[in-house]
Amino acid sequence: MENCLFCKIAEKKIPSAIVYEDEDLLAFKDINPAAPVHLLLIPKQHFSTLSDCSANEAPLLGKMLALAPRLAEEAGCGVRYDADGSPTGGYKTLINSGPNGGQEVYHLHLHVIGGPHPWRGQR
Ligand code: 5GP
Ligand code: ZN
Repeated sequence: MENCLFCKIAEKKIPSAIVYEDEDLLAFKDINPAAPVHLLLIPKQHFSTLSDCSANEAPLLGKMLALAPRLAEEAGCGVRYDADGSPTGGYKTLINSGPNGGQEVYHLHLHVIGGPHPWRGQR
């Protein structure tokens, strides 16, 4: 897709801090992080929004969601369990869709946001 920022990042025409890549997906650091860890995970194929995906994209979307914990873990913000079994650490996974969903870049992306609190706007 011409003039799509994240297509250009996927094609390496615009530099980014890449943390993961395979034949379908690319993950890179958000340029304006909202938390100590803020990654963006995109399909290399262009979809403007989540609403432009259909059931055909279920495997791709599932692959993205299944990768998020691994990226979080590698970035140091995975979910862990204390000796007494209580959860610690953790991250948010977020897809903004459309203007009312707060989407700014119209190439589907999954935010992975984590790290020690406080974050911007959250304790
Ligand atoms: P949205 O609001 O569309 O869900 O999120 C878009 C995200 O892309 C924002 O968090 C913003 O900081 C990030 N972003 C915008 N332009 C660039 C860029 O050129 N490089 C990188 N790495 N992130 C970007
Ligand atoms: Zn695109």
